[in-house]
Amino acid sequence: MQTAQGERLEVLLPAREIHARVQRLGQRITHDYENKELVLIGILKGSFIFIADLARAIDLPVHVDFMAVSSYGSSTKSSGVVRIVKDLDNSVEGRHVLVVEDIVDTGLTLNYIYGHLKARGAMSVKICTLLDKVSRRQVAVPVHYKGFDIPDAFVVGYGLDVEERYRNVADVCQVVRD
Ligand code: 5GP
Repeated sequence: MQTAQGERLEVLLPAREIHARVQRLGQRITHDYENKELVLIGILKGSFIFIADLARAIDLPVHVDFMAVSSYGSSTKSSGVVRIVKDLDNSVEGRHVLVVEDIVDTGLTLNYIYGHLKARGAMSVKICTLLDKVSRRQVAVPVHYKGFDIPDAFVVGYGLDVEERYRNVADVCQVVRD
């Protein structure tokens, strides 16, 4: 794909590896939530491709809803002050909820979302993230399902962006600035 000037993409996780891992996650979730009503909550925008693939890898009648949050601070660093930009369309009261996130970095965003959904009366709240930068964690968040651990590098692709670029790249890539 054409990149912005002075920028290169280095593949960290190829699409076929992501696909295989997402299928495995879907199988585990299908097994764990058998006979339960599951609501998948995608955190926009970064999770839009992951949730689309994950939902199809889950062999259960799931509901899907979305939230969008913005964290104050620079575009590449989370400040921990989270604001809901788009709230859920439907109530999660009494429901089993699985939050589908693209990446956990400091954990501040998910920590807020987790508390928010519990306070809304969800019967259970679990977290599924495609990527985890464990070395960057500032607050502990319970990650129940995880695609990959990755090093402390800024990544794009498979839904993730830098200033809205590269969300439609099929691989997860590291942005390298020359
Ligand atoms: P946290 O609150 O855990 O520090 O940050 C989580 C959010 O920061 C993610 O949902 C994502 O929007 C953004 N983020 C953290 N690391 C990266 C990264 O490497 N690439 C991109 N594109 N976004 C990231």
